[in-house]
Amino acid sequence: MEMKTKTHKTIVIKLGSSSLTNEKRELNVANLQRIVKEILPWLKKKSFVIVSSGAIVSGSAKLGLKTKPKTIPEKQAAAAVGQTLLMKEYEKAFGKEDVTVAQVLLTRDAIADRERYLNARNTFLTLLKLGVIPIVNENDTVSIDEIKVGDNDTLAALVASLIGADLLINLTDIDGFYMDSEEGVSYLVDKIETITEEVENAARHPGTELGTGGMITKLQAAKIAQDAGVAMIIASGKKPGVITNILEGKQEGTFFVPKAAEVESRKRWLAHGLTTKGTISIDPGAASALKKGGSLLAVGVIGNKGSYQAGDLVSITNEIGREIGRGLINFTNHEMEKIMGKKSSVISSLLGYETTHEVIHRDNLVLIN
Ligand code: GLU
Repeated sequence: MEMKTKTHKTIVIKLGSSSLTNEKRELNVANLQRIVKEILPWLKKKSFVIVSSGAIVSGSAKLGLKTKPKTIPEKQAAAAVGQTLLMKEYEKAFGKEDVTVAQVLLTRDAIADRERYLNARNTFLTLLKLGVIPIVNENDTVSIDEIKVGDNDTLAALVASLIGADLLINLTDIDGFYMDSEEGVSYLVDKIETITEEVENAARHPGTELGTGGMITKLQAAKIAQDAGVAMIIASGKKPGVITNILEGKQEGTFFVPKAAEVESRKRWLAHGLTTKGTISIDPGAASALKKGGSLLAVGVIGNKGSYQAGDLVSITNEIGREIGRGLINFTNHEMEKIMGKKSSVISSLLGYETTHEVIHRDNLVLIN
């Protein structure tokens, strides 16, 4: 299959720990150099951002820890050590061709806050304009759970969405996404248009559990990418020529087809940048009204969970609990308790004050999948 990847201009490459470290948990410098060598010839035509894992694993080896660190302080210490090892090697490998690299360490709060999101976006775009390769990782050393993205598959998809990339190449220790045929034979899937429940179930396939975040986080990342209009490929990080092949338009791994090419930046941010504070379930009538571009009204709300304020981001699920959208809600969870299922005309009298009747305005709402 000939792929459109030839025409892609802005590319995010995610390198998993398995592509960058060896069985002794040390940096696999040879593989890092090979990957960089495959990127170099394209730099005149395309821009690249690398999202690189491997800090915690390589840092732990350097510190002489016997096993992969388990406690948070150990992981954070290892990340601080490993991150400089990684940057040193990227600097050396790209420096051979006088290409400058930049270290960008992110946490979720840099993406969740709209102002900081736009600021991060400007930084990335400026670096790319200057011909610099941003090397991104989570700021593991200072990240606590509340502000963490948590895995680099998701981080890479958020970065791809943030900068409006065309393609995210997710390089891992398996050559793509596998499913089972009706006869129970595993096969590599070439192309996935929609991440259905069948695909989600296949992510739990034991053959695809090798990567750091496993296939489940890769599928979550693929959803973020697809919704943001970014194509994503899962392919092997150990296979020589993998990047060259992809950029020449040859089939490699599994291709996740992006949705509508142009998604408004604010809506992309709404969909995946923030953490949700609650969940609103809605009936099929409301779901189809949203699909037609309508706002969410109280009458269609059948469930309400979480503790949130007006203006917070909530998840919208259908009647069987599948997330179908996200949006900034106009009411608190207590107010929602009183008005869910009720007609718009009675909302003000139920609450005892004049208020908007839209639960979530269509401008503040984004549908996912
Ligand atoms: N940020 C982690 C590291 O550099 C990797 C997390 C991941 O691969 O998902 O070690």
